[in-house]
Amino acid sequence: MRITVLSLFPELIATVARFGVLGRALDRGLLELATINPRDFTDDPYRSVDDRPFGGGPGMVMRVEPLERALEAARADRPGRVILLTPQGQRLTQSRLAALAKASHLILVCARYEGVDERFVETFVDEELSIGDYVLSGGELPALVLIDGLARLREGVLGDARSAEEDSFSDGLLDCPHYTRPAEYRGRRVPEVLLSGDHAAIRRWRRSQALLRTWYRRPDLLMRASLSEQDRALLAEAIEAWRLAGKR
Ligand code: SAM
Repeated sequence: MRITVLSLFPELIATVARFGVLGRALDRGLLELATINPRDFTDDPYRSVDDRPFGGGPGMVMRVEPLERALEAARADRPGRVILLTPQGQRLTQSRLAALAKASHLILVCARYEGVDERFVETFVDEELSIGDYVLSGGELPALVLIDGLARLREGVLGDARSAEEDSFSDGLLDCPHYTRPAEYRGRRVPEVLLSGDHAAIRRWRRSQALLRTWYRRPDLLMRASLSEQDRALLAEAIEAWRLAGKR
């Protein structure tokens, strides 16, 4: 899979992408990441990528011509799905990430200022994505969020493929709590079942905790999740234990 990012700050993308899971994915060639700077496609001495908005008002707007040329360069040897990062887009979800992870080429457009000329959106953009209901000063961090989320889903990127399968949202639920050594910390013991070596009991406990967490933190997710009879029974049992423990 190739991801090409159109950005006025390509170094920002390249620098952040060097680290952790994403950095390893790039090093191993499991993901290809390219950046293109629209400023390299300007035709005036000031290399201007933005201009004042028609109708007046504050801020600047990214001009359509440098963006169009940058996009042509991005698609020169492979067509790609064009995604604009914008707070006005559909909210990014794990299921959308999973669908996008199957694409062979994604072209991510990062805006700055007040955003891009609307005619660029109308002419070239296939999809608009937001990372949440708040406004950042540029599309680079949202693009990196998307890229990181995609990298985790590429086969061979995570040491153990089950990590992604068990993550929050992958099956519609939140993940269960996790513990590591020491077995006791400030008087708090790790749940005994995790030390038992009984793998069936551990699986059952993890599922019940994922259900319980989702129930009290994100009931909206639970409403949409498809639960088996066994899940419902586990959840009822977990809620009972939780209440008895005086959590609520
Ligand atoms: N005037 C725009 C609006 O109110 O919709 C906001 C422009 S914002 C200052 C500059 C750019 O940052 C956006 O065009 C977009 O590329 C990016 N951006 C900011 N917040 C974002 C978010 N929540 N999700 C995705 N991209 C975002």
